[in-house]
Amino acid sequence: MTGSSGSGDRGRARADLVIAGLGPAGRALAFRAATAGLEVTAVDPHPDRVWTATYAAWADELPGWLPSAAVAARVDAPWAWAVRAHRIPRPYRVLDTAALQRALSLDRIRVVPARAVAVGPDEVLLADGRRLAGRCVMDARGLPATPGRAQQTAFGLVVDAAAAAAALDGRDAWFMDWRRDNGTREGDVPSFLYAVPVGAGRVLLEETCLVGRPALALPELERRLRARLAGRGVPLSGTEPAEHVRFAVEGARRHRGGPAGFGARGGLMHPATGYAVATALSATDPVVAALRSGRAPDRVLWTPAARTVATLRAAGLRVLLGLGTADPAEFFEAFFALPVDRQRAYLSGRADPAGVAAAMWSLFGSLSPALRRTIVRSLV
Ligand SMILES: Cc1cc2nc3c(=O)[nH]c(=O)nc-3n(C[C@H](O)[C@H](O)[C@H](O)COP(=O)(O)OP(=O)(O)OC[C@H]3O[C@@H](n4cnc5c(N)ncnc54)[C@H](O)[C@@H]3O)c2cc1C
Repeated sequence: MTGSSGSGDRGRARADLVIAGLGPAGRALAFRAATAGLEVTAVDPHPDRVWTATYAAWADELPGWLPSAAVAARVDAPWAWAVRAHRIPRPYRVLDTAALQRALSLDRIRVVPARAVAVGPDEVLLADGRRLAGRCVMDARGLPATPGRAQQTAFGLVVDAAAAAAALDGRDAWFMDWRRDNGTREGDVPSFLYAVPVGAGRVLLEETCLVGRPALALPELERRLRARLAGRGVPLSGTEPAEHVRFAVEGARRHRGGPAGFGARGGLMHPATGYAVATALSATDPVVAALRSGRAPDRVLWTPAARTVATLRAAGLRVLLGLGTADPAEFFEAFFALPVDRQRAYLSGRADPAGVAAAMWSLFGSLSPALRRTIVRSLV
């Protein structure tokens, strides 16, 4: 149920928190802030839009308050294939998107179905001229996938587990399968197979362009996926639901004196992997605690450690973009050969710059001189 703002904020008490954008990040923050007793107003042009994307995360990234009903499938140890198969001893969770959305209830939130045209630190201006005032404003409007931005793209099909088995080679899930049996040749921009159970006896098989500027087009990814699945003997009926993925992985900017950002808009997306949902979910409570104690959310979101981590990961994005058409096998073989704690430090969390740097340094040190030169070139 969404409420309406009537004729605007005149005569209303200022909300404790105004949130622009009710995607996973904004909605999670609204829910947790309202649960903690804050007066929350949230604005989104389509607040009731039903989410359909398949969201997943490492189990250790998810906050304890997330109900287990929000998880559709559990994988104890997903696999990766670069030059050979690697078992990743780190539990992975595929979320039940509808249950997640329901769990982040908007019942105690004043929801304004409208578009924000200007978002300031204590006020949001709506397209119809109304203004929403708040003690604090958080900008969670996501990142538009504009052409100049590095993006992740993917094309997926949801198939029955029995049919998907041939693509999985007896494994529960492929976090990344970089084998070239997708109709590509050396010199083509590479893509990988992401294959995860999504509950109810179904598996998502998705051909993914990790990052590109520009990223691979969806028709090309669909061609590759179909070639791969045909080669592995996965029977398709033609009625499988499809998932289309395109989103920006870079572009979050903080303007001096502007509102604090949250979610993808606020720089909480990992630029080299595109994961952002779990980070936003787990960042809600520290932000709420900051608001309750009168501190600025940026004080908890952008500690010196978090800034350093973001800088290192932005370099990680440049490295990936710099690989271009180079075969990713050597790079990812080295990554998945790292101890899982190093992998975790690189992939997750925002408080351990030393761990991120150690992961990057170990990876770099184990690469061939040719690949190291490519990496250095992309960084300077
Ligand atoms: C198919 C797909 C699969 C994905 N899988 C994963 C995954 O497995 N794990 C993961 O971590 N990430 C995944 N992602 C990336 C995911 O999209 C982002 O991590 C996540 O959506 C970011 O959430 P957000 O709330 O910050 O932004 P968004 O989801 O972009 O939400 C932004 C919200 O702001 C609203 N808005 C926009 N403009 C305005 C405005 N002017 N005024 C008011 N409101 C506005 C929008 O309507 C929207 O509701 C996936 C993306 C796609 C497309």
